[in-house]
Order: sequence, then C-alpha cells, then structure tokens
Amino acid sequence: MMPLPPFEFAAPATLDEAAKLLDQHKSHAKILAGGTDLIPSMKNKLFEPQVLIGIGNIPEMKKIEYDPQKGLTLGSLVTITDIGHHPHITTHYPVLSDAARKIATPLLQNKGTIGGNILLDTRCYYYNQSHFWRKAINNCLKKEGDVCRVAPSGHRCYAISSSDTVPVLYAMNASVTLVHAHGQRTVPLRAFYENDGMKFNKLEPGEILSQVHIPVLPKGFRGAYMKLRRRQTIDYPMLGVMIGLQMDDKNICRDAQIVLGAVFSMPYEVKAAQDMLTGQTITEDLIEKVADIAHQEAKPLDLTNFRPAYRKRMVRVFVKRILNVLTQKNTYVEEILA
Ligand SMILES: Cc1cc2nc3c(=O)[nH]c(=O)nc-3n(C[C@H](O)[C@H](O)[C@H](O)COP(=O)(O)OP(=O)(O)OC[C@H]3O[C@@H](n4cnc5c(N)ncnc54)[C@H](O)[C@@H]3O)c2cc1C
Ligand code: SF4
Repeated sequence: MMPLPPFEFAAPATLDEAAKLLDQHKSHAKILAGGTDLIPSMKNKLFEPQVLIGIGNIPEMKKIEYDPQKGLTLGSLVTITDIGHHPHITTHYPVLSDAARKIATPLLQNKGTIGGNILLDTRCYYYNQSHFWRKAINNCLKKEGDVCRVAPSGHRCYAISSSDTVPVLYAMNASVTLVHAHGQRTVPLRAFYENDGMKFNKLEPGEILSQVHIPVLPKGFRGAYMKLRRRQTIDYPMLGVMIGLQMDDKNICRDAQIVLGAVFSMPYEVKAAQDMLTGQTITEDLIEKVADIAHQEAKPLDLTNFRPAYRKRMVRVFVKRILNVLTQKNTYVEEILA
C-alpha cells in the first residue's frame, strides 16, 4: 500500500475564502478538486503539499451556463461526466463531450473535473512511477534529479501534455478565468500553455482556476477528436488529434484548426496544415498533403509505452481519417474510434 504523505486539510465554503487560504500558504498548498490526478501523484511522492485546499464545497464553481450569444461558461468543478453528457454541451459542443467520454473510466469521470483536466500535470514514463521506482534510477530533472532520462543531453523536461479536453478547448478558442486573493484575470488557452514539461502553464502560485469560457462556435463548424491509447478505456492519450473546420455553403473551408495533444508538453497547432486548408475545397489530394505536414511536424519522444515512430505514424492516419469523415458528412459524427 502506498500511504499519502501527511498534510493539513481545509475546506473553504467560498471562492474568496479559498483564494485567501491559497494566498496565505502559496506554494506550500495545493488545490484539491476531484483528486483523480493529485492523490495518486501524492502517493507517488511527486507532490507533498503541507496544506490541501479542497474546493468541492463551493457551489458557484459547479455551474454550467449556456447563452446563445455568449457561449458556454463552465465552473471549474464541472465534472468530466457532465461535460460528456449535459445537454447544453452535447447539443452545442458535441466534440467536447466526445473527448470527455474518452477520458479514463466512468468512475474517474464522475470525480474528475474540467479544471483539473486543464491543469493536469504533464506525464512521462520515467516520472509517473512510485517513489521507490524513481529512486532506483536516481530520479530525473522533473523531480529531484539532475538529468532527463529521455534526452540526457537536453536541459529541459519533455513530459507530454496528456489532457483529452485541452486540444478540443484550444481549437474552440476557450479561455480560463484565474482568481487570486487580490483580483482575477482571463487568459485565452492559446496563451496559457508553455512547451516545458516542468512549467507547462502560466498559473501563478496563489491562483485558482474558477471558470472556463467557450465562445459560440461559428456557423458551419464541424469537429472531431481522435485518441490513441492501448485500451479503449482507462488509458491516457498517447496521441490526441483534434480537427475543427468551418465550412461555408459552397463547401469551401473558411477556417481550420488542427491541434495535436500528447506529442509535446503543450497542445501543438499545425499552422502550415491549417493554412493549406483555408480557402480551399477539401479534396482527397489536399487531405494527403495536410496529413503529410502534420506527420512531419509531430516529433514524439520515447516517453510512453508506445514507440515514438508509431505515435508519429498515427498522426498522419488520424488526420486523414478525421478529414475524410468531416468532409463527407454535414454534421458531427458521434464516435470515431482509434
Ligand atoms: C487511471 C487514470 C486514468 C486517467 N486517464 C485520463 C485520460 O484518459 N485523459 C485525461 O485527460 N485524463 C486522465 N486522467 C487524469 C484525471 O482523471 C483527469 O485529468 C481529471 O479531469 C483531473 O481532474 P481532477 O478534478 O481529478 O484534478 P485534481 O487531481 O484534483 O487536480 C489536478 C491538478 O490541478 C490542480 N487543480 C485542480 N483544480 C484546480 C483549480 N480549480 N484551480 C487551481 N488548481 C487546480 C490540482 O492542484 C492538481 O495539481 C486519468 C487519471 C487516472 C487515475
Ligand atoms: S522528460 Fe525527462 S525530465 Fe521530463 S519527466 Fe521525463 S525523464 Fe523526467
């Protein structure tokens, strides 16, 4: 059995109170939402906070609001189950619901939250192990070591962004509201992440993610998300591909978003491929070219239990598969299996 390290527990009743507590303890405290990522990580001694601030009793952080003019606003405690099944989301943002239903298992979806998914720690084969296992290899840069086991001559951590909802939220121009004891700020998700496995987002000590906002999707939007994993349940993504297209009445692509997850430490937008699609009728030939570009730009490293060459090859396969489906149907396709 792996025991939790000792900690004090606080359960504030309001967001204000939570922000004050976090301000008081700063980096000695951690926010606990569903705990599906944090608790196993604490058992592995990846985090040993002196204080855990449980935000589960704050009702204002559990709201789901949809406005046809403004879009969707989710409190950060909205569960992954609700993202997968709530009618506001399945109706207006079905691709987000689909990505949520591909996360972990139903039990973990019941506990896990959208805020926790957006702030999910980056993952690596050499890091997500027990304390005992990591000690045997003398640790690594991300935790208590001085060398990266994946790229020993490198000077940074390459652990991968492993959230299933983030590539989708990214492609839909979502933003997050971050609250602290002295105010708040709103940051577009596209400006929130960094390609560094250790400092992979811009959340400052003392900040709590309170809300996620997704604007109304443009007319003619079609999207789909595909996930590569060893089993069709439980497993984290070894690759995620989100494609969003905005098609006009003449079937010309007016805007394209191609976002890769689980390749780098942050979601990766394949801009050259997006540019190639924009303004064009999407033909089979164009799909081949776009898939080639995405394949070239993806550079997965050897830090999961799939070979990097296979993950890279699957980028081409997924891009082709999604574009074929999206250009043959007029609406979102309920489920595309990897
Ligand atoms: C077996 C297993 C399989 C999994 N598979 C997947 C998968 O396939 N895809 C996937 O995306 N995820 C997966 N997960 C990870 C996890 O279940 C989800 O990412 C979940 O959404 C995390 O949410 P949470 O509320 O449990 O986060 P927590 O564990 O509570 O928190 C995660 C991190 O975010 C911080 N945090 C949380 N909320 C806030 C907030 N509001 N403000 C500031 N900081 C905050 C915490 O301090 C912590 O650092 C898996 C987990 C397990 C155990
Ligand atoms: S990429 Fe390197 S530094 Fe980062 S977790 Fe893996 S082994 Fe550690």
